[in-house]
Amino acid sequence: MIRCVSCGEEYDDEVIYTCKKCGSVLELVSDINVSKDIFEGRRDNLWKYKECIPVDETKIVSLDEGGTPFCKCDKLGSELGVNLYVKVEGSNPTDSFKDRGMTVGMTKAMELRVDTVGCASTGNTSASLAAYAARAGLRCIVFLPSGKVALGKLAQAMFHGAEVMSIQGNFDEALEAMTALALEKHLYLLNSINPYRLEGQKTIGYEILQDLGWQSPDRIILPVGNAGNISAIWKGVSEFYNAGFVDSLPMMTGIQAEGACPVTNAFRKGEKTVEPVLNPETIATAIRIGAPVSDIKALRAIYDSNGYSETVTDEEILDAQKLLARTEGIGVEPASAASIAGLKKLCEQGVIDKGETITCVVTGHLLKDPNTAIDACTKPTEVSADIEELKKLLINK
Ligand SMILES: *Cc1c(COP(=O)(O)O)cnc(C)c1O
Ligand SMILES: [Zn+2]
Repeated sequence: MIRCVSCGEEYDDEVIYTCKKCGSVLELVSDINVSKDIFEGRRDNLWKYKECIPVDETKIVSLDEGGTPFCKCDKLGSELGVNLYVKVEGSNPTDSFKDRGMTVGMTKAMELRVDTVGCASTGNTSASLAAYAARAGLRCIVFLPSGKVALGKLAQAMFHGAEVMSIQGNFDEALEAMTALALEKHLYLLNSINPYRLEGQKTIGYEILQDLGWQSPDRIILPVGNAGNISAIWKGVSEFYNAGFVDSLPMMTGIQAEGACPVTNAFRKGEKTVEPVLNPETIATAIRIGAPVSDIKALRAIYDSNGYSETVTDEEILDAQKLLARTEGIGVEPASAASIAGLKKLCEQGVIDKGETITCVVTGHLLKDPNTAIDACTKPTEVSADIEELKKLLINK
């Protein structure tokens, strides 16, 4: 069953993206009536939780997504005085967490027998959709904000055969156009306004609890753009909490870039919806979003979990990206590093207590945005292969 998060109106399983009565966003309502023991010993991918995901399991379109690394980060953790784990979502098939939403969304598309799927994207959604559409054999159309998509993501979308259009406008404008086409039934929309996407992404929450041996961290920190992921993870941990699999819940902590922070602004004022930011700007292109569609759900997650929201500057993001890469060996794209930058800031501010158990979700792989990575480093030194020369160079370092 699908339910409106604002007015509670209920809908049967139909192609619907927003409430017909009040225009708000929708969510799926699912009951968990299995024992957690059934998840143990299964192949470690997202579909180990198939009983908790409301789609037809005979139609599954999968690339073996989920089951991502959960790295204990003692060096960085002890520097900051916390017990830190990093959930590495860049280890999914197309190198971001978007694959979790897409495997479920594409499975739903097969159930609904659609022939064309589409999305607007800052990059990763299009990369993922293109791959899953290829696997499903469906036509795929993606709208990208012109000039603002990281190179790796663009390469993926094009290479998997999507029809890629570069929209003159930002992400919010591209999404508005794509949504209009979907409402006229030209395609099935697989942006995160589609509640089935979030049914896949909620498994990040499931996995974190299972990764910790059926315990909740004190806090989950992640970057927030369109605000679907923080909503989905909260849904996941809440479902397992309500099923009695864990006995506490994490404080959901959403980090935004200073130039694109409608959710943090709303949190600071105690509001339930956001005031859109008109010209969002940040080097972290995956979260360069001014009008998040899941704002109501995300703010609810933050308030209900006694969580928090904070902004970080582009400089703090780039510093954190390098810090994580060089102290822990985990390479992430700039948006993902917002979670680490936020962790650092909130530790300094005393919002995070010493000794808290924290999981930072890092959302996409370093190589998604190779240009930013290369610009942040000094170029390799050109030298001859002469051993004596090389010895001198190494000793003089
Ligand atoms: C999509 C994305 C985000 C933002 O997630 P939302 O659900 O839009 O808040 C953050 N980081 C990366 C790498 C992403 O691809
Ligand atoms: Zn409604």
